[in-house]
This record gives sequence, C-alpha cells and structure tokens, in this order.
Amino acid sequence: MSQTSRFRALVALSAALALEAPGALAGPRPVVPSLRVALPSHAGTAVRRAVLSARRRLAEQPCRSVLSDFSADGGRSLDRVLGDLGRSPEAHLDSLVFRDGSTRPRCASQAILAFTHVGGDTVYVCAGQFTRMAERDPVSADLVLIHEALHTLGLRENPPTSGEINARVAERCRG
Ligand SMILES: [Zn+2]
Repeated sequence: MSQTSRFRALVALSAALALEAPGALAGPRPVVPSLRVALPSHAGTAVRRAVLSARRRLAEQPCRSVLSDFSADGGRSLDRVLGDLGRSPEAHLDSLVFRDGSTRPRCASQAILAFTHVGGDTVYVCAGQFTRMAERDPVSADLVLIHEALHTLGLRENPPTSGEINARVAERCRG
C-alpha cells in the first residue's frame, strides 16, 4: 500500500471513529460531582465553584494533611474520623449540604462568611458576604469552606482559636 493511500486510510479511520463515538477520541468525560448546594443564583454559583475548588485542594497534599493536624473529641485525628466513615475528603464534601444562612443571627456580622455545628452535615453560608469574598479572593472562599468542613468532622474551637485554624488551613491549602 502506498504511503498516500495508507495516509488516506488513517484519515478515513479517525473520521469513522469520530462519527461512531464522538467521545472516543477525546477519552473519558470528567466526572462532575453532584454537590448539595441549596443557595439561589449568584450565591449558589459562588458556593459551587468554591466547593469544587476546595474538593480539588483537599484531594492532594499538602492540603490533605490539614486533616491530621486537628482532632475531634476523644483525640481521633480528622483523617482517622474520615477513615472510620469510609470516606475520602472529596466524598465528605459531597455529602455536606450548603444552605443559605443569611437570615440567621450569625450572618448579621459581616465578619462571618459561613458557619456550621460541630459534627453537623450542613454548612450555612452568609450569601452576601461570601459571594463578595469569592469575587474578590476566590482562594480565601475555598479556605472558608475547608475550615467549616473540619468542624463537620468534629473539630471544636477554643482551643484552637478560629484564627489558628485559619492559619493552618492557609498554610496547608492556599498553594
Ligand atoms: Zn470555625
């Protein structure tokens, strides 16, 4: 078979492949996690983006090691708590519900961007201030959600202070 006809055959083959299964050449489609974000429009978009980004950070080192920097009641590291739940950090974030906390008293303070209960599965996001932060500094918005996720795994505050938690999360996860 001449070089030209071999080339023609190759072109025909890849065209046939593209017709048959459009994704065949492009490889497997990325799996988009189904997040439980119950905030409307702009705030919902900002929270969804931050959860996906926080998910990527926590899946890798050094960010993931923040889970062994802190412990839940009884002294189990948060990493161990996750292991006992049989979950990866990403799966844990996927299991949380993000709700609008704007009408809650805690969100009356502009300094509060989100809050949760220790061991709870719902993160309340102060929609206005969080969305503004996410527009100004998206990385910091990711870190706020990682901070709250640590609380959902059982991390209490005082001690450590909120500032100490923020500093360690930033140190491990800002990169
Ligand atoms: Zn906190």
